[in-house]
Amino acid sequence: MYLKRIELSGFKSFADRTVIEFDDGLTAVVGPNGSGKSNITEAIRWVLGEQSAKSLRGGKMPDVIFSGSAARKPLNIAEVTLVLNNESHFLPLDFSEVSVTRRLNRNGDSDFFINKQSCRLKDIVDLFTDSGLGKESFSIISQGKVESIFNSKPEDRRGIFEEAAGVLKYKQRKHKAEQK
Ligand code: ATP
Ligand code: MG
Repeated sequence: MYLKRIELSGFKSFADRTVIEFDDGLTAVVGPNGSGKSNITEAIRWVLGEQSAKSLRGGKMPDVIFSGSAARKPLNIAEVTLVLNNESHFLPLDFSEVSVTRRLNRNGDSDFFINKQSCRLKDIVDLFTDSGLGKESFSIISQGKVESIFNSKPEDRRGIFEEAAGVLKYKQRKHKAEQK
């Protein structure tokens, strides 16, 4: 399975509908500072279910909607679609291509779709949980995370490895059980 395409419209600096095609294998996105590279990874995390505006570098969720520029008025809707090649049926759906869409209106209305069928945010989160692709997974490592790995104390760094290895949740459960 791989990310085949991302379609952005009204998300952060991507005011116009923008379609980025990816191939199987490695892709590097390069560009000057402020050109929108990080916004692309944030769009991916947003669709996968990110609910923290702060971790998307905003104060509140509508901050992801294009807020206008000198030449352009703000927009009222942000929409991002990820199209995944699922020929390997890595995602437990009977489709060789899976699209996942998230839309937000400035009035607060949210819509979510899997293969153009309306769904809940939870359905999207559930689809990706345990696939190793969820928003909490290590499939996306931010600039800040890289710094925290280098700067952290040995015991905190150990926590990062335990999280990556999938043992942290068991340790946390054990800790909770011992407190009872
Ligand atoms: P760097 O190389 O410095 O990491 P980058 O390519 O990752 O840069 P981004 O951080 O993705 O750049 O893009 C930042 C740009 O996105 C800024 O110009 C910022 O004004 C713009 N931007 C962020 N949110 C919005 C928004 N809601 N509406 C319009 N523009 C936005
Ligand atoms: Mg960046």
